[in-house]
Amino acid sequence: MKVGVPKEIKNHEYRVGMIPASVHELCGHGHEVYVQEGAGAAIGFSDEDYRQAGARLVAGAEEVFEQAELIVKVKELQAGERAMLRPEHTLFTYLHLAPDQAQTDDLVQSGATCIAYETVTDHAGRLPLLAPMSEVAGRMSIQAGAHCLEKYLGGRGVLLGGVPGVSPARVTIIGGGVVGQNAAAMAVGLGAQVTVVDRNMEVLRHLDHRFGNQISTLFSTAHTLDQAVIESDLVIGSVLIPGASAPKLITRDMVRRMPEGSVIVDVAIDQGGCAETSKPTTHDNPTYIVDGVVHYCVANMPGAVARTSTLALNNVTLPFIAALANKGPGQALRDDPHLLAGLNVMAGKVTYREVAEATGYTY
Ligand code: NAD
Repeated sequence: MKVGVPKEIKNHEYRVGMIPASVHELCGHGHEVYVQEGAGAAIGFSDEDYRQAGARLVAGAEEVFEQAELIVKVKELQAGERAMLRPEHTLFTYLHLAPDQAQTDDLVQSGATCIAYETVTDHAGRLPLLAPMSEVAGRMSIQAGAHCLEKYLGGRGVLLGGVPGVSPARVTIIGGGVVGQNAAAMAVGLGAQVTVVDRNMEVLRHLDHRFGNQISTLFSTAHTLDQAVIESDLVIGSVLIPGASAPKLITRDMVRRMPEGSVIVDVAIDQGGCAETSKPTTHDNPTYIVDGVVHYCVANMPGAVARTSTLALNNVTLPFIAALANKGPGQALRDDPHLLAGLNVMAGKVTYREVAEATGYTY
């Protein structure tokens, strides 16, 4: 099969759909991989690396779309890219169609087969192509929080791990899922005093089993949250109610009572954020202060560590890319219900219930 990897064109997007190692794997199975020049350059994968892996380098995205049957990307297609999509294309990338009417309309009109990373499932009903980004964001959240606690950024001037004779910082993590567990691991590693709050007892049992007395776990109620938040130096917001906006668990009143210079890293900002005072920020200008509390609310945290994120993403997408190329999209989708769960648009129809409901298409 002919596989295409265009360069990402969304603002500040440095990730790439396939790394040279993935290209090498596909070429080894007899496929032709067309990579746009410069596609991985920003994160250290040169055109020469791709060439050595067996790729055919082409100058522009037009050529990639013209040659390839399977297009592998990271971000949703931008308007100019959508104009190049044809019925014989299969697109494999993050789509996030529900809130994006214009993109949905264009994909439907294109007649192409569009598979979204974010709705591919695994045997336990989890979302394995989203998990690596939550792992990255969870680990980054403590890095970002530690940085924001420094005095010159408006923080309390507190070192997460303390030093001999001085107490460590108190870190509260709200939501002990993928983001929360990765945040906890980093915070524990740095020597902070860590509390994880969740409303799912299974999650709390798992955390207790994994971290023992290195962390405290708390069942999530308005009361326990209030106490934990107002006594914290750093709060990580990492709740998720699938398919819904994040619940506003940190109220304005709680923020007012937090210590001056304490920090909220609201990772759940991509679902609206779990603090009433949260609003999305960017890597260019990541923080702002409300009532003396530093807020870090970057909606695409993994973008800052694009090389790590790309490698992590390729680890989980490669088996699906290989199946699509080896068997052809039709057979690969028929053989694997988890890949089929990723199918959002096909032959001019929306094939994913929530997207159809949100965009007015019949399902
Ligand atoms: P997850 O489903 O693995 O974990 C969410 C946890 O929140 C679950 O354990 C759940 O029980 C818990 N929860 C739900 N309601 C709660 C409540 N009222 N009190 C306490 N806990 C509650 O999800 P995840 O993969 O860890 O993702 C968390 C959030 O981070 C999502 O909104 C995700 O989209 C976001 N995220 C953001 C970025 C970014 O760049 N900002 C990157 C990756 C993920």
